[in-house]
Amino acid sequence: MFIIWITYIFAISLKDKERMKDSTLLQIAKDFGSPVYVYDAEKIEFQYKRLTKAFSKVKNLKLNYAVKALSNISVLRLFNKLGSGIDTVSIQELRLGLKAGFKPEDIIFTPNGVSLEEIEEAAKLGVQINIDNLSILEQFGTKHPKVPVCIRINPHVMAGGNTNISVGHIDSKFGISIHQIPLLLRIVENTNMNINGIHMHTGSDILDIDVFLYASEILFDTAKNFKTLQFIDFGSGFKVPYKKGDIETNIEELGEKLSQRFNEFCKEYGKDLTLAFEPGKFLVSEAGVFLAKVNVVKQTTSTVFAQIDSGFNHLIRPMLYGSQHDILNISNPKGRERFYSVVGYICETDTFANNRRISEINENDILCFKNAGAYCYSMASNYNSRYRPAEVLLYKGKAHLIRKRETFDDILNNQVEIVL
Ligand SMILES: *Cc1c(COP(=O)(O)O)cnc(C)c1O
Repeated sequence: MFIIWITYIFAISLKDKERMKDSTLLQIAKDFGSPVYVYDAEKIEFQYKRLTKAFSKVKNLKLNYAVKALSNISVLRLFNKLGSGIDTVSIQELRLGLKAGFKPEDIIFTPNGVSLEEIEEAAKLGVQINIDNLSILEQFGTKHPKVPVCIRINPHVMAGGNTNISVGHIDSKFGISIHQIPLLLRIVENTNMNINGIHMHTGSDILDIDVFLYASEILFDTAKNFKTLQFIDFGSGFKVPYKKGDIETNIEELGEKLSQRFNEFCKEYGKDLTLAFEPGKFLVSEAGVFLAKVNVVKQTTSTVFAQIDSGFNHLIRPMLYGSQHDILNISNPKGRERFYSVVGYICETDTFANNRRISEINENDILCFKNAGAYCYSMASNYNSRYRPAEVLLYKGKAHLIRKRETFDDILNNQVEIVL
């Protein structure tokens, strides 16, 4: 079984390499300029289907792609075409989804700490709303008892190892604590509101499937308190490998185990509920690469720096989370490997990699950052008054520009120049 799985993954990654070949990527950097993000539509589709297949034993499965990972409207169109729903965390993401063609019933609104007005606006647009605090729940339920509401529970389970991305633990700002269930039930009873879903999103990295299943049991226990449920949403947290030796969530094993438990629960509950997930990273991370050009190779007494035409304004994850993105020199892939610190051009420390083995780098080479599909472009900024990069989608063998590089007008846009 294990051998088959490995062979299968290996065969797939070969095909990925075919589509995202060095020559193709170099041509894209030439045609569209650098820096540029490139996404492989087929890889996104593959991940979507892989997750669907892992849960094929569940009668009603709903995958809601988490828009915040990569929110380009053409990417959203691709998800719409695949039959996915979307998970949105702001009214703007929600509007983007509607514009991309999603029906309101295929959208869930899962914000944190937003105003009652924003939630009412979302409800008015007809999307599924998800409330994650008692204060807003009570206010909303009192005013709109008929609108179906999903509630976000915090099961207080540490799913990942990093406190920046584990949102289920005891002092997290997310969700309604399981210790407050009695209070929650009182609000629901007093307002007579309609709770149609239970939700959790424990964090960004599921390293251990048993921990996730443990959190799921807490969700099932909570679900028993509500008689009108239509779905249970298990959030996300699927881990993808960033560097050699990284653990990847074994989706197939999780699918097998959770499906079985979910089906048992539905029997107990007396109704076929929908099992929902809202993955972001799993669906798009590995489908994306970031291409940047080397401006300067700077040799100091201790280090060789490769300085690229980018910085944490374009890709903040290494500085923000300490995440490691593989970096390849696609202009000289067979060159002798040397140690480089890859840094940017921002006037502030913006290190992408420290003393990394990369094949010999010359000025003007194109470096390729892997795993750049999720939380990369969507976190980009104009810091240092730099333009945000272009985005390209590889779809059916053709490179489509899906976002133009910014221009000087974009920098000035909305600035009001007063004469002093
Ligand atoms: C960000 C987010 C997700 C997606 O998480 P990934 O780790 O990218 O899969 C899902 N649900 C909610 C509520 C989120 O905020």
